[in-house]
Amino acid sequence: MRFAPMRLATAALAALMALPAAAQAEGEVNIYSSRHYDTDERLYSDFEEATGITVNRIEDKANVLIERIKAEGANSPADILLTVDAGRLYVADQAGIFQPVQSGALEERIPANLRHPDGHWFGFSTRGRAIFYDKAKVDPADIQSYTDLADPKLKGLICTRSSSNIYMLSLMAAMVERLGEEDAKAWAEGLWANRARDPEGGDTDQLRGIASGQCAVAVANTYYFARAFTKDVRGLANPDDTDRIGIVFPDQDGAGTHVNVSAGGVVANAPNRENAIKFLEYLATDEAQKYFADGNNEYPVVEGVEASSAVEALGDFKADDMPLIKLGENQAKAQAIYNEVGYQ
Ligand code: FE
Repeated sequence: MRFAPMRLATAALAALMALPAAAQAEGEVNIYSSRHYDTDERLYSDFEEATGITVNRIEDKANVLIERIKAEGANSPADILLTVDAGRLYVADQAGIFQPVQSGALEERIPANLRHPDGHWFGFSTRGRAIFYDKAKVDPADIQSYTDLADPKLKGLICTRSSSNIYMLSLMAAMVERLGEEDAKAWAEGLWANRARDPEGGDTDQLRGIASGQCAVAVANTYYFARAFTKDVRGLANPDDTDRIGIVFPDQDGAGTHVNVSAGGVVANAPNRENAIKFLEYLATDEAQKYFADGNNEYPVVEGVEASSAVEALGDFKADDMPLIKLGENQAKAQAIYNEVGYQ
């Protein structure tokens, strides 16, 4: 009777010990990624060729990967988590998913505002959150700043996605940082009062809303619009649709346009830490920057690396240089403001 539970305990212990041993392998790195772009194949194979380190990948939605790493705990084979949005990275970091990394190469090549101050994560490409408009209905002079979106003269014209979305939370967190909580709340109230419809769908659906005539103004990330020029996007595939849509990079005379990142960090219990750091350093090389950014029509973070022609066609803009860690630090306040004003 006494031996059965002991055997179980021994078996369980052996299983626990076997996991990290299996995950820790000379010449391998395990990446949990919420990315899934064609150019990623080239990204990984070039790294394998250059270093002899084999890349093992698990791809899934960001929240699934984060929950999985948490559940795997100390036995997680994950070396790197690649995902998007500083707000989401903040939540993952608060859950203890990342560890600090010091790397001269990463610190030199990636602007300080686009990475965690202690190296918990590093941004490898950026996207702007821009204002789009129907050229036939709106004078772009009326939408030159995010704060313009709360002006009553835009009543019934604006489409955004739901406030529960991380892009909307990060934008509000940036407004809290810029305006303070009180003015950010007034802004949220004004924006909500100006809605053309209740929030539905993702960023592409806001652009489709302009094409279909439901929305005169929309807020969306830059890559969703750039993508419509490289792929047939349903509802935007007709050149007449995209011709109808203009883009404004807000606050060019002020703080600059709100940007966010695609980013990666080394996982707290990474079994292959050194290889993981090598991979992150590789992502900051000129060649990898190109693949990483182009895969999702984003902007490379390393100076001197050019964006793709579809992205360049959107035009140059001044990006807000706010430290992106603020988007996480202000997230609870942003959520509270949306709740208080009843922003769905
Ligand atoms: Fe997106």
